[in-house]
Amino acid sequence: MTRSSSAALGVAPWCLRETRFDPELAGLHETLFCLGNGRIGLRGAHEEGRAWPGTEQDATYLNGFHDVADIAYAENAYGLARLHQFIVAVPNGKAVAWQIDGEPFDPASGCIEDYARDFDLRSGVLTRRFVWISPRGRRVSVHSTRLVSLERDAVCALRYELQVLDGPAHIAVESFIDARAQDMEASDDPRAGSAHAAKSLVEVSAERRGPQVLLVHRTKRSEMQVASALHSLAWHAGEGVLAPQDAGTAACLGHRFEAELRQHDTLRLDKVFGLMGSQHAPAEDLPDLLARAVEQAVEAGFEQLCAEQAAYLARYWQDADIVIEGDDALQQGMRFNQLHLLQSVGRDGRTNIAAKGVTGSGYDGHYFWDTEIYVLPMLLHTQPQIARRLLEFRYHTLDAARARAREMAHAQGALFPWRTISGPECSSYFPAGTAQYHINADIAFAVKRYWDVTGDDAFMLDHGAELVFETARIWMGLGHFQHGRFEDGSARRYCIHTVTGPDEYTALVDNNFYTNAMAQMHLGLAAELVQWLAQQHAGQLLQLQLRIGLDLREAETWQEAARHMYLPYDERLGVHPQDDGFLAKPRWGFDGDSPKRPLLLHYHPLVIYRHQICKQADVLLALLLLGEQFSLDDKRRDFEYYEAITTHDSSLSRCIFGIIASEVGYAEKAYAYFADGVRTDLDDHHRNTRHGVHTAAMAGAWLGVVAGFAGLRMRRRMPCFSPTLPAGWRRYSFKLRVAGAQLELDIGPEGCTYRLLAGDWLAFRHGGQTVVLGGDRRETTLALPSATRPPATARAAFH
Ligand code: BGC
Repeated sequence: MTRSSSAALGVAPWCLRETRFDPELAGLHETLFCLGNGRIGLRGAHEEGRAWPGTEQDATYLNGFHDVADIAYAENAYGLARLHQFIVAVPNGKAVAWQIDGEPFDPASGCIEDYARDFDLRSGVLTRRFVWISPRGRRVSVHSTRLVSLERDAVCALRYELQVLDGPAHIAVESFIDARAQDMEASDDPRAGSAHAAKSLVEVSAERRGPQVLLVHRTKRSEMQVASALHSLAWHAGEGVLAPQDAGTAACLGHRFEAELRQHDTLRLDKVFGLMGSQHAPAEDLPDLLARAVEQAVEAGFEQLCAEQAAYLARYWQDADIVIEGDDALQQGMRFNQLHLLQSVGRDGRTNIAAKGVTGSGYDGHYFWDTEIYVLPMLLHTQPQIARRLLEFRYHTLDAARARAREMAHAQGALFPWRTISGPECSSYFPAGTAQYHINADIAFAVKRYWDVTGDDAFMLDHGAELVFETARIWMGLGHFQHGRFEDGSARRYCIHTVTGPDEYTALVDNNFYTNAMAQMHLGLAAELVQWLAQQHAGQLLQLQLRIGLDLREAETWQEAARHMYLPYDERLGVHPQDDGFLAKPRWGFDGDSPKRPLLLHYHPLVIYRHQICKQADVLLALLLLGEQFSLDDKRRDFEYYEAITTHDSSLSRCIFGIIASEVGYAEKAYAYFADGVRTDLDDHHRNTRHGVHTAAMAGAWLGVVAGFAGLRMRRRMPCFSPTLPAGWRRYSFKLRVAGAQLELDIGPEGCTYRLLAGDWLAFRHGGQTVVLGGDRRETTLALPSATRPPATARAAFH
């Protein structure tokens, strides 16, 4: 079992610092120290790789680069997902090995002193230094700095310096691209990656092109290609630039440098290496394009690459930083999360953000609904151009979703996959996979939210409307009008059977509250969009009608179904049942401290499904996303009901509970949920961060501040806030992009200062009050609205 890392990494607002190498934490720290740029992910294994004890996965990933394998079902059924996609490790360009007077560096022998590794969150570089005392007693200071360029998406760079401390020495250093298979461990844990990926790459070509080594590999079945290139340059004061010699064997090619160093001389090796996959350019062009990108980076030089990185991140932090005064551990956690989200998110419209980002093989590199419901809001308000790219990804995979809908017996529309890399459904366990139809509504919700926040009509016309219509059609093929007597007295309700909601501890149910409520929103939105198009963009509507065979009468059926959507409500308890049968099931009677957690690793799914036990927020998430429809009392009762039966075995859960707790006035609970969620990976709460970070939980932490403590809700196009100041914080501040403007909120004991940083004007709500900033009035400070207080009875019941 891995230990929690908080103590090992210190608490500094802009840095993770490892001051001792601990093999037991090596796998976890490979994830935490991973660098990325949305395309490339370089796990934080050491340059010398497996020479370091405890190294788990010295892997490099390319977002979206995957192979496929048949899914073998011993018992078959029609329509099950057939092909598994899984991310594969690509060649590792950072590899280094060296010798002093013929004695090879080996951290496991001799002794390591003055070790420190720093991940600087402000500048995006990883540095490491230590002194190695060899078994023969030689002393060498080793210093390395690496980055994955955010500015140049195909490029990484490493500076590696060796200084001899105890007298003259002959140093030989080798710099490689290592394309040997990265074996991945097989695991029973469904959250880990499958073991398919080992030995997935086949060499296509290996050449030396001038000063570069250039390799091309392809995957065995998906026929994707990846080019990798390396340029190495070494230098030392006595001899100046050193001549490279060829080094390596077929799968591990590179350069070798040798030099005679005097005491205290430093040998400096600069490596520039790059990666490009056929998801980004035609396979035949990859070697030339990559060679050029690497050459340009070499010309720029290491210092320039570092300067570009710092400048890129200065701009990012300018928009995305959340400043918390009064809690350094949470401040560190927030920044760590924000940086990892940027490092993980695909920005090309062809890739997305995987549940584990580009930090590991967990969940096989798949994209989930995590993108639309968790990650998108933070990007939308800080990097809207990237948010748009994520939605474009869904648009580009619409055809696969249409094909899946036909397979699932839907005559019309598109059904998005529960998990995928390039578009097809990859979930082999349909009860918690394909059955999560809510993903269609989640995507539609994200399109709407994007539109509300940016007002980007062009996106709606080019991509958004088609996405919303095609996904909405599924509800009409899935649900039906049921006649009978419903609790609310109505005789006819639109019902949806046999689906799974977000809570994966309850599967294949009728009328999942979240699904029905989101489908209602979705159908209403689709009908409204038809009207908007008809009134303002009749030409585009006509084109869309022709393209997807849309009959305008469909909009009437959408409206009708939305109006009559059945939303379960239990009058006696005053709560929304998660689904029709949920309240009748026995409770689990679970003990929060039981060693048999998470339940999914200890119980057959049927045992779990039979109980009133939740893995994650389900009803509560609907109350957040569709909050206007529900009263505060409803929210409070639902919070109390579901809190008692939720294990939070999913990292997507706590942040949502925290936000609702804030809204209903349970400030202490809100804070506890938030504080726990922020450091999900830094403190390895789920004991699986070594397989990769939890991007949804990271984005959930952002939501915890912005939607939780500051209370942001979008009401149509109007941002509404009800800021609170958590006890123990001196103040906090953040910036949001909304409606073409940028607004800063700075919240302290004196109130909330709103500053309009960009844009002509902006209207928003503060508590119950409408505020307009613009013209000469660009800043205002308003007292914090009085916090919602839970009624005395609810408070008493609360422990
Ligand atoms: C959660 C899903 C989530 C997936 C990927 C699962 O444990 O239950 O809601 O999409 O992880 O993060």
